[in-house]
Amino acid sequence: MSFFQPLAQQPADALLALIGMFRNDPRPGKIDLGVGVFRDDAGHTPVMRAVKAAERKLWESQDSKSYLGPEGNVAFARHMARLALGDVDLGGRLTGVQTPGGTGALRLGAELIAASRPGVTVWVGTPTWPNHPPILAAAGLKAQSYKHFDPASQTLTFDSVMDALNRAQAGDVALLHGCCHNPTGADFSLEQWRVIADTLSSRGILPFLDLAYQGLGLGMEQDAAGVRMVMDACPEAVLAYSCDKNFGVYRDRVGALFVQTGSAADTDRVSSNMLALARANWSMPPDHGGAVIATLMDDAALVADWTLELNTMRDRLLGIRAALAAHGGVLGRVDQQRGMFSLLPLSPDVVKRLREDHAVYMAGSGRINVAGLSVETAGRFAAALNACL
Ligand code: PLP
Repeated sequence: MSFFQPLAQQPADALLALIGMFRNDPRPGKIDLGVGVFRDDAGHTPVMRAVKAAERKLWESQDSKSYLGPEGNVAFARHMARLALGDVDLGGRLTGVQTPGGTGALRLGAELIAASRPGVTVWVGTPTWPNHPPILAAAGLKAQSYKHFDPASQTLTFDSVMDALNRAQAGDVALLHGCCHNPTGADFSLEQWRVIADTLSSRGILPFLDLAYQGLGLGMEQDAAGVRMVMDACPEAVLAYSCDKNFGVYRDRVGALFVQTGSAADTDRVSSNMLALARANWSMPPDHGGAVIATLMDDAALVADWTLELNTMRDRLLGIRAALAAHGGVLGRVDQQRGMFSLLPLSPDVVKRLREDHAVYMAGSGRINVAGLSVETAGRFAAALNACL
């Protein structure tokens, strides 16, 4: 028997297969709502202007590529702590490290949680980002699911969220999307965040916050408001941050993990464990993306231009959402949802007919990336949808 005989074949990534099918489709006007990246009206995922300028600046000034430490670029982590949490600094009760993307931050956070409380239960609303469950499982954590969203009515099921948080035991963990919920776009209102923050705090549940789309929902401050409320209410919290979407640096893999602890002494111990886990996983994070974003954040003119471009991206998503919702039916509540994704109540057969008969490509789950549309093509998509329902 070969050494690797016991390995079961793993399923291919369905979204990657969709990319290939889309590329090979000769029909003009084909629409790709599959892959989860931002696109402009021309269907392009651009390098943001300020990122390009910061890369140029870094190229001119960088005089060494010698190793950093497992914490990565400390200036970058400081900047991201401030972007996410406002007027804070690392030190005291807050520690943070650079990670390979939000995925790396989630994995490191999950391993830190597991190292402290082996086998602890993590409460996860469904549907969720498909990579959440395997990341938790890989760290040896037990996921307990509950309903976050009802596709048929296109509504967030807040009662079932609260029911779950009230069933959780003290010392359990709650994984929550900070904004622009993937795949549903169904975010908590500020009032709902208030109730969640108070419940987590009074019941002693550790928040594990995933903020991967700050600035792509309603605005930089609004999109972080829930996360900040929870971190104010709870003495201890874990925050996984991704810069890959709001700086458009996906393949550079840029993220950070922040942990808020109960005391400076705890911070020391937690921080030493984060560094040890990072070292065992990736030694140190890839430098380029973090160094570029730190360079950008140190330059007020570049920050202003990045903000401007991010605002344009967000306005584009909001405009497409309004155009879709105007068609009513299953699209009627898309303007109540935020970020790049919505989850439409479509059967696999409808998804297949949209692809075969109308050249509209989307995930089998019915998730659409609204950035794959434009205000102009929204009508064509709505018509195709109507023809298939
Ligand atoms: N969290 C959520 C909810 C996401 O949707 C994603 C990416 O799609 C991530 C985290 C991880 O992002 P990345 O690892 O690309 O930074």
